[in-house]
Amino acid sequence: MRRMLFYADVKRSGKVTKQSLILSDTKLGIGVKISLGLSDRSLCLPTIIPRALLTSEDTQMTVLRPIPWKQSPKDTEKQTEEGGGGGEKNGTWLDSMRAASPPRATAVLETQEHKSWMLQHPSALSMFDQIMGASKGKKIVMFMDYDGTLSPIVEDPDRAFMSHEMREAVRDTAKYFPTAIVSGRCRDKVYNFVKLAGLYYAGSHGMDIKGPPTSHRNHKDDKSLHFQPASEFIPMIDEVYKSLLESTKTIVGAKVETNKFCLSVHFRCVNEKEWDDLAEKVRLVLVNYPKLKLTLGRKVLEIRPTIKWDKGKALEFLLKSLGFAPSDDDVFPIYLGDDRTDEDAFRILKNRGQGIGILVSKVPKETNAAYSLRDPSEVMSFLKLLVGWKKQSRTKHDAHGAK
Ligand SMILES: [Mg+2]
Repeated sequence: MRRMLFYADVKRSGKVTKQSLILSDTKLGIGVKISLGLSDRSLCLPTIIPRALLTSEDTQMTVLRPIPWKQSPKDTEKQTEEGGGGGEKNGTWLDSMRAASPPRATAVLETQEHKSWMLQHPSALSMFDQIMGASKGKKIVMFMDYDGTLSPIVEDPDRAFMSHEMREAVRDTAKYFPTAIVSGRCRDKVYNFVKLAGLYYAGSHGMDIKGPPTSHRNHKDDKSLHFQPASEFIPMIDEVYKSLLESTKTIVGAKVETNKFCLSVHFRCVNEKEWDDLAEKVRLVLVNYPKLKLTLGRKVLEIRPTIKWDKGKALEFLLKSLGFAPSDDDVFPIYLGDDRTDEDAFRILKNRGQGIGILVSKVPKETNAAYSLRDPSEVMSFLKLLVGWKKQSRTKHDAHGAK
């Protein structure tokens, strides 16, 4: 079994200690983390988890970073069993921030760890021909996340614009394939960024779906698609939004964003010294709302209804609306995303054995996606290749038909 090793700084009862964790590319490794009360919030690398979010009251995990391969896995396992792996005193939030900084992330690219991860999740660009081969005779349906997939992650979430060239690539993609944008943002907001008609938009983590009439193989539906599985939560979300605006206003840089069916508290512009305070304020508001849950994204806290609905469910709903059943082998969904919330969709495709998931990431992450792309510019290259391939196969088909 191939193992991925990570290192975690842990604070117990106010005293910083250091412990090693072992993650693997199987569910066994995730189990190790869950046993420490850290949950799957720590799947991203590097990941920073505010104290207030941890389920264990006296444990703070500040950062995960790879252990060099030269360290023996056995040694690490021993340290874990013994409950400690060294006495360095620098396991602070500041370390976490530094570990998350671009120079470290770039360095990860060169490691053996990254190379081995790329073997398991090869580039969708270098494997393009094989992917198209697998889709032969099937209907390709495209699903794309927005932030970090079509647009770069920027300091101000209101300025996460996609490039003109990327918009053209998405427009061309939608000409040839049913295309959906699946985002944590509210539908109107993501539409205002993408600005393309004729696509399906699944906003608020799939809780607000709208799109053109679904013309599928069985029949043509004249009505546009509109589905909101969590509409009863709108008044509650609005109430919490107002409470959070009030309670977080003393924290400089904190930004509370309403996505109609869910909320985002961005801390990418907050001084790291105040991350704990911010998370605690959010947690205190949510104590009064047991029907809402809190999850961690990329420098963002997400508040969502506890209903079983996520990007994976949105993908299932859209495929069904297009006339494809879970067992159909004539559909080839391709889902591109960079966030932990996209894993729900990757998991659905993996379990169904339909299509492929492509994780957008420069660093190794535990993922259910089969392939990877490094960043939005590689996503754009992939879309252009896809459109070019489709045009070429149509030309061949037409030439064949004319004979
Ligand atoms: Mg994203």
